[in-house]
Amino acid sequence: MSDGHGTNGGYEAVIGLEIHVQLKTNTKMFCSCAVTFGEEPNTRVCPICLGHPGSLPVTNERAVEYATRIALALDCAIAPHTIFHRKNYFYPDLPKGYQISQYDLPLGVGGHLDVELEDGSTHRVGITRVHMEEDAGKLVHAGGATGRIHGADYSLVDFNRGGTPLVEIVTEPDIRSSEQARSFLNQLKNLIEHLGVSDVNMEEGSLRCDANVSVRRPGEPLGTKTELKNMNSFRFLARGLEAEIERQLSDLEAGEAVRQATVHFDPSTGSISVLRSKEEAHDYRYFPEPDLVPIVLDQAFIEKQRAELPELPAARKERLIEQYALSAYDAGVLAGSRSLGDYFERVAAEGDAKLAANWVMGDFSAYLNAQGLAVEESRVAPEDLAELLELIADGTISGKLAKDVFAAMAESGQKPGRIVEERGLGQISDETALEAIVAGIVEANPSAATEYRSGNKKVMGFFVGQVMKETKGRANPQLANSLIRKALEG
Ligand code: ADP
Ligand code: ZN
Ligand code: MG
Repeated sequence: MSDGHGTNGGYEAVIGLEIHVQLKTNTKMFCSCAVTFGEEPNTRVCPICLGHPGSLPVTNERAVEYATRIALALDCAIAPHTIFHRKNYFYPDLPKGYQISQYDLPLGVGGHLDVELEDGSTHRVGITRVHMEEDAGKLVHAGGATGRIHGADYSLVDFNRGGTPLVEIVTEPDIRSSEQARSFLNQLKNLIEHLGVSDVNMEEGSLRCDANVSVRRPGEPLGTKTELKNMNSFRFLARGLEAEIERQLSDLEAGEAVRQATVHFDPSTGSISVLRSKEEAHDYRYFPEPDLVPIVLDQAFIEKQRAELPELPAARKERLIEQYALSAYDAGVLAGSRSLGDYFERVAAEGDAKLAANWVMGDFSAYLNAQGLAVEESRVAPEDLAELLELIADGTISGKLAKDVFAAMAESGQKPGRIVEERGLGQISDETALEAIVAGIVEANPSAATEYRSGNKKVMGFFVGQVMKETKGRANPQLANSLIRKALEG
């Protein structure tokens, strides 16, 4: 029933997202422990992030700057005066018994992101709030895949992540389909990647997403929502939403009301399980954090952060169209990822931009996808791809052979010039050498030669094919053509 586009037998889906972004600061939100990923457990901790009594947090100024840039990039109004609250709850990964977060005075409110949809139209999603908080630690199943104790059936806690600066972004319930949700998240990720304030990597958890979803007939008031927690990939987000929309619709069809709940999507089975009924709202007993001073962001600070904003994706797309004469589609794809756009611009700096765009979006992207690599992990440096395009442009190799050279570059990390030389792939433009090959072929095929001479010019194709076969595709095609004609007619 659910087709991912919100047309479900007269019902529409209503979706709002809550996104957590880990900031790429050197140190944690309220202490001087290093922010890292993948270190030995419990080696990046101190009395402050472990919540020892008597320790005092101090706000990381860089984190406030980064959070402000995110809020500004989303066109939020920045609070001139803001404070932190304690959000009280018990969980083993939260040694303090509370998380320092923001409550009724968030850093930013009332923003929006204009999301480009696949059909080229734009859909505006409101940003309710952007606030700062600290991350919790992490429970690691001792016997699991990442655990170290064989057969263990308990969990251990790693506090390294505890206290990492987080920004939470809450959207208005403006999203109408799983596809829109996916596009929104993708473009939000790209925006933050352009800001350079986070790795925004879903696999590593520096970008995390909870999705709230309900269904209704268009024009009706909002329906009761459920919450999908921790959707940790773009695909699972879309699939999870579709499964949950479907579940709610079948409840309604069966005459049952949707009940407020947290639900879990199992990607391996595609099924939804209802975890806990959320009928009584959590009571976090928020109160102002007494150990931290209020944050005053004056106009000078806000303007400084605004000035620090780099070129954002929408502006970049326009510039790519202008500067490199790319189509809107190509510019959209290349500006759709900061790393891909940067890579393209380095390749295009040295040659034909259209050719560069084709290769970056074609063979290069296919190679990354096939190997599951990020742009930064590529074995093909942009300068090397530029050199390959140069070899095509100056006629050293054909476009067809260039694909093989590229594959060899991707495998070995070697320079294209070296691969062409070592494998003897260069185009044969040496007239004497080609003339000898042509002569040999004409001599070996006397009946075809006679046919040509008696007027069947189509036999030409046969001779070209033979020359290409003999030279393994390396003969300069124009030269080969004229030499064959000369040999047959002369
Ligand atoms: P809660 O009180 O449960 O935290 P909020 O009103 O703060 O709910 O909203 C949390 C998120 O849920 C926001 O992203 C918001 O857009 C979304 N949301 C709120 N109501 C609905 C609804 N009826 N259907 C879908 N999403 C909703
Ligand atoms: Zn610490
Ligand atoms: Mg809320």
